[in-house]
Amino acid sequence: MATERTFSILKPDATKRNLTGAVNAVIEKAGLRIVGQRRIQMSRAQAEKFYEIHKERPFFGELVEFMTSGPVVVQVLEGENAVAKYREVMGATNPANADEGTIRKTFSESVGENTVHGSDSLDNAKAEIAQFFQDSDIAG
Ligand code: GDP
Repeated sequence: MATERTFSILKPDATKRNLTGAVNAVIEKAGLRIVGQRRIQMSRAQAEKFYEIHKERPFFGELVEFMTSGPVVVQVLEGENAVAKYREVMGATNPANADEGTIRKTFSESVGENTVHGSDSLDNAKAEIAQFFQDSDIAG
């Protein structure tokens, strides 16, 4: 297994409920190191670009609206097999289908407002990290 970096977002439902620390505790307990982190207000243009792959989906408008509805915390996570590991720690997209102990099972209230984003491949992780971070903002 290789050391990888993945991209994470703590979504507006997390920051609104003061869950940044609680979610970070789950991430760190899973052995993932938070090597970059910044709290930002995502612009509509940034959200539309980030979720471009979903632009034909019926929930795209709602998704962009939600992701710009309040601050988010963008993160770079590092660890062994980090991309797949973080997907496991997050749990299924719909919290109703997520396993016990996952972030979404523990904290999320709906399929839309599901607390966290995590890259689904190493290539996407690289592109997503590049959208929000400069190399000098990341310290492993
Ligand atoms: P993920 O990789 O587990 O985040 O899931 P997807 O890539 O399939 O979807 C991206 C994001 O779109 C999800 O995390 C949700 O925030 C949102 N989303 C997915 N399905 C729905 C839906 O049916 N309704 C709404 N409102 N949002 C959705």
